[in-house]
Amino acid sequence: MAFPQSTKYVIVGAGIHGLSTAYHLALELRRKGKGSGADILVLDKTSIAAGASGIACGVVRNNYFQPAMRELMAHSVSVWESDTEAYSYHPVGYMQISPEAMREDVASIAEQQEAIGYESVFVDGAKESAEYMKGLFDDWQAQGITSVLHEKPGGYSNNTKAMYGLAGKAESEGVRILTGVSVTGFERASGSGAVSAVITDRGRIEIDYVVIAAGPWVKSFWEMLDLPREVSIKDADGAMHDHIPMWVYWSLQEGTLGVDPKMQRTNDGEMPPVIHVDSDAPLISDVDGSLITAEMWGIYYKPDFHFNGIQGGAAPFKVPTDPDKVAVDPYGPESPDFVVGPEFAHMWCSALAHCQKRFEDQTPKYKDEPSGGIGAFTPDSFPVFDVYRENCYVIADSNHGYKMLGVGKLVAEEITGDPSVLMTPFRFSRYEEGKLHPVSNSPFPWS
Ligand SMILES: Cc1cc2nc3c(=O)[nH]c(=O)nc-3n(C[C@H](O)[C@H](O)[C@H](O)COP(=O)(O)OP(=O)(O)OC[C@H]3O[C@@H](n4cnc5c(N)ncnc54)[C@H](O)[C@@H]3O)c2cc1C
Repeated sequence: MAFPQSTKYVIVGAGIHGLSTAYHLALELRRKGKGSGADILVLDKTSIAAGASGIACGVVRNNYFQPAMRELMAHSVSVWESDTEAYSYHPVGYMQISPEAMREDVASIAEQQEAIGYESVFVDGAKESAEYMKGLFDDWQAQGITSVLHEKPGGYSNNTKAMYGLAGKAESEGVRILTGVSVTGFERASGSGAVSAVITDRGRIEIDYVVIAAGPWVKSFWEMLDLPREVSIKDADGAMHDHIPMWVYWSLQEGTLGVDPKMQRTNDGEMPPVIHVDSDAPLISDVDGSLITAEMWGIYYKPDFHFNGIQGGAAPFKVPTDPDKVAVDPYGPESPDFVVGPEFAHMWCSALAHCQKRFEDQTPKYKDEPSGGIGAFTPDSFPVFDVYRENCYVIADSNHGYKMLGVGKLVAEEITGDPSVLMTPFRFSRYEEGKLHPVSNSPFPWS
């Protein structure tokens, strides 16, 4: 196929947001009589699922302290449920298991889930939590837990399988996906400043509209669009904080215990919910009995046949390097800088053993292969979904986003003329206006 010289819509990035936007935009254009999938071109410099979406743990949950995030996640869960097969989605549910410091936050999440009709069970109290957990796993032994939130919807999806499923759905609507094409810049119309053409290493493409869904690479697009490197943020007391860098990187810590995934079943032999435990109980090494940490720690895990073992992660850490000097490429397991090391394996496997007896003495089975990756985070660690330069929609999920399959649907609706109330709390102007999201007591930057 000759390299296209023009198209109505270019979507940059064949990860979850780019592909979801492409598929849903094709549907919206057809439904509204405004065009079809043939008007849409997805460009990716490497391949489908080459970014964060292809290495994500794939956990899909609602558990967020911020009302706007919860409503958005509830919407996304409904999209996951709409085609479980193509999205390789396992609706096993999700559990947030917490210490006293988080009990009130999680209780309010449970109340608000009830208010929006998102089914969950909230278990309050140490004894009650232990009983509830032992009812699911008779070897449950985590200490210091005083509440459990059991979300009945949600679960996880197999990362690359879901991306190929999504790509297939988009292509069946006539969308073209071109891989091995790197976007290097934009041409702007004189007078208006809108983007008139996308410049790539294979040629120039004239466009009506462009969507940027570049995940961890968003900072380079921000620069191509001449958007501000720093922002001013108004806090809850009305004070302005200037010169806050727009992008910072965090390193995600994930890995796989190389055991039979069936090792983690419920007492009834069923596939279990995804488990997320936060704890302030001392974390003791399962290898040598030493103290790993007396600080708050958190892990998540699930049996996964795609990763072939028990797969999960721990709290990420902020990359201390100047964001201008962080090498996003090579990405993920190929990165020389951002793959997990033996400390992660030691901590995560010990935490698994802290939670369930079946994981004691299993650390040697940890799969010693590169895993993990970085994410680009906004100043408040919440997504920015907004239109710049009149016709350029930037989807910057601040690394919340594998679970946000529904964002592409909402973006498609917005592009075709239906603004979304679910997306409004995520506009860039919130920083200057002080319309910030509430912050929880969780050790994770995206809770
Ligand atoms: C280790 C890890 C685990 C995670 N686990 C979870 C989880 O369990 N649940 C969850 O909800 N989220 C999770 N996340 C976050 C989630 O993966 C991301 O938020 C989400 O995948 C981002 O999707 P995206 O479509 O924006 O970007 P990506 O999937 O990164 O896709 C961006 C694409 O843009 C392409 N691209 C970049 N630059 C250019 C260019 N110049 N020209 C053309 N193409 C370009 C890249 O090749 C890439 O394919 C995890 C992230 C990591 C790193």
